[in-house]
Amino acid sequence: MIKTLVLLGATGDLAGRFLLPALAALRAAERLPDDFRVIAGAREDLDDPAFQCFVAERLERHAPHLPDAARADLIQTVRYRPTDVTDPASVSGLLSGIRQPVAVYLALPPSLYAPVVTALGAAGLPVGSRIALEKPFGESLDGALALNRLLTEVIGAAGEQAVFRVDHVLGLATVQNLLALRLSNRVLEPVWNGRHIEQIDILWEEDLGLEGRAGYFDRSGTLRDVVQNHMLQIMSLIAMDLPASLDEHALRDRKVDVLRAVRILSRDDVVARTRRARYGAGRLYDPTGGAGRVVSAYRDEGGVDAARGTETFAEVVLDLASERWAGTRFLLRAGKALRRRRKQVTVRFRPAEHPSARSAPANELRIGLDGPEDLALHLTGGAPLDPSCPAPVSFAAPPPAADLPAYGRVLLDVLSGGSTLSVRGDESEAAWRVMMPVLDAWSAGLVPLEEYPAGSAGPP
Ligand code: NDP
Repeated sequence: MIKTLVLLGATGDLAGRFLLPALAALRAAERLPDDFRVIAGAREDLDDPAFQCFVAERLERHAPHLPDAARADLIQTVRYRPTDVTDPASVSGLLSGIRQPVAVYLALPPSLYAPVVTALGAAGLPVGSRIALEKPFGESLDGALALNRLLTEVIGAAGEQAVFRVDHVLGLATVQNLLALRLSNRVLEPVWNGRHIEQIDILWEEDLGLEGRAGYFDRSGTLRDVVQNHMLQIMSLIAMDLPASLDEHALRDRKVDVLRAVRILSRDDVVARTRRARYGAGRLYDPTGGAGRVVSAYRDEGGVDAARGTETFAEVVLDLASERWAGTRFLLRAGKALRRRRKQVTVRFRPAEHPSARSAPANELRIGLDGPEDLALHLTGGAPLDPSCPAPVSFAAPPPAADLPAYGRVLLDVLSGGSTLSVRGDESEAAWRVMMPVLDAWSAGLVPLEEYPAGSAGPP
């Protein structure tokens, strides 16, 4: 296991909200070696005590449930070096004199990935080191291709083993359970195809708006932010043929098969099968039952350039050119400032052929991914044979207990050299190939940008 984590972008939101709490969770679970160290870098001119105060404050805010001893222990292991990642001399200074090999985690704006990988190459990344890059991996297919070429040049013989393209969704206990659900239940596989399944909805609906992240989000939009990565990864796990083994090659081969089987949308398809929208002023949903916070329209949020026309809602309907999935629609729908938080997969079965089933709603299997829903199977009867028997039947199970947060699993994989939670280079490129025609047609104005009130169910 690599014992030195170089965390670039250490003062940012991702580091404070997820990565540092995940490291503290790993410490609490005794999954880190005793002599583990974090070397943190960002441009802000801080010294070790000032950065350790920052870490303490973030852990207090985002990981108050963890034992004090684990938090204190992590704080002790953290050192800070002011660094400009675009300056090779500064990156070289950061790497000098630290224990090797290292895992370098780029918790940085995606526009900095190419310069920092170049600077790491110039500084001479120690043998056996790894680079972890956050999503989105590139901002387009061309960007992803260029970044993959650059990584190959810098990493050399170590190849794919030394690169970790993070998609933390793969580390969620519920998403891991998705695979377990398919692998360990004989009852699903015979009906897991277009003959029995009419539509699969993959939903990534958030009840929060921009929350001050215009600097990143306004240049990205929903399609690049979550559909190209998280949602296509979930679709791959749902639709893939079962891998012969769970080693990283077999699993990622099967996932990339799905992405390659997606029928690429023509311009007419994009018009007919996609929607984009942004939220207007409204009141956000309050899960505690309160009145809800009023937010202004996305276009009026601080830092937003309204003329860019960035979408906060995206819907795309895809089909797969595969024997298994002939006739099944895959609907991917994501948005911010929606009426409720719902991250789930809904598998809609075709109606049974018996005449009594004609008017009945379809059977559904709902798989909750990141709250609030659990695993639920809704079986609906038509006209009940025995009228005293209620027609719909539901079976539900609570979500699996998570031993570690998703980022804890991701970091463990980065440090220990695992790859099942990393997206392979060709997977990332295949995902961009699916989304580029949509992005191109949207930027050519072929699909109108609709509007929906914040806190509503989305565009009408
Ligand atoms: P932030 O803008 O909050 O943080 C960016 C960090 O990068 C800061 O620490 C900043 O510090 C540092 N930085 C910027 N420029 C430089 C530079 N030239 N040299 C060194 N450090 C620099 O972004 P986020 O943390 O939100 O996002 C980071 C990445 O994580 C993005 O790729 C994002 O897509 C991804 N991500 C974020 C999530 C989140 O919830 N925040 C969730 C999932 C992924 P300083 O300006 O002081 O240098």
